[in-house]
Amino acid sequence: MGARTPLIAGNWKMNLNSEESVNLVKALKEGITGNEGVDILVSPTFVNLAVVKLSIGDSGILLAAQNMHYEKNGAYTGEISSQMLLDVGCTHVILGHSERRSIFKETSEFINHKAKAATEMGLIPIVCIGETIEEREAGNAFAVIKDQLNGSLKNFKDVGKLPASTVLAYEPVWAIGTGKTASPEQAQEIHLFIRQWITDNFNPETASQIRILYGGSVKGDNASELMGKPDIDGALVGGASLTADAFLPIIKFKEN
Ligand code: PEP
Repeated sequence: MGARTPLIAGNWKMNLNSEESVNLVKALKEGITGNEGVDILVSPTFVNLAVVKLSIGDSGILLAAQNMHYEKNGAYTGEISSQMLLDVGCTHVILGHSERRSIFKETSEFINHKAKAATEMGLIPIVCIGETIEEREAGNAFAVIKDQLNGSLKNFKDVGKLPASTVLAYEPVWAIGTGKTASPEQAQEIHLFIRQWITDNFNPETASQIRILYGGSVKGDNASELMGKPDIDGALVGGASLTADAFLPIIKFKEN
């Protein structure tokens, strides 16, 4: 894994009320020692970002939003801007999650605008990509991933620079919330492809620095095998990030 510190990110999606969110952070803080050798991030709903930030305190746990709009402010009813996320203490924002792509019809072009805006405002985007089962079975997984990368990171390609802090998350849609995990070999093959795409479109140094997370039914009992692969630099975790009992073993995967 080289010099890349693994990032273990919990995407709470539309789950947990404010009390449950604060209690979960409290339990995570009690469960970690700080010597896990990983960066830890949680991503609550928009309405709980502020209380979660307070609860995080000086523990070093990072805070991400699950989405944002690319404009700074204005007449966009129901939307949240990067400035607002920074204001409540977010450092990261998840963009282009497959649920946003499929349920809310977000295109790579739209995600590209958001990734550019986030970066310009000083938020680190976690850009998600991943193929459906139909695309995989038709032998199109690599083509789909390449297409999503070209589209979602177009502005960075246009200027020839992708900040090394940018995080990519490979989440095969067929493995999200299904209990089906990509095998470590299947995941590694795509992660290597993504890293090569970064080399080809930017440079080898950027490619060696960017963290590429795996997401899709990651659990305490499969995390260490996945993370043992050279190009898997952490995990984006849905279901198993909702309780400390399930999330802590992933955070502590190095102990296995
Ligand atoms: C996700 O939605 O980002 C995810 C990976 O979910 P789960 O871990 O529940 O498969």
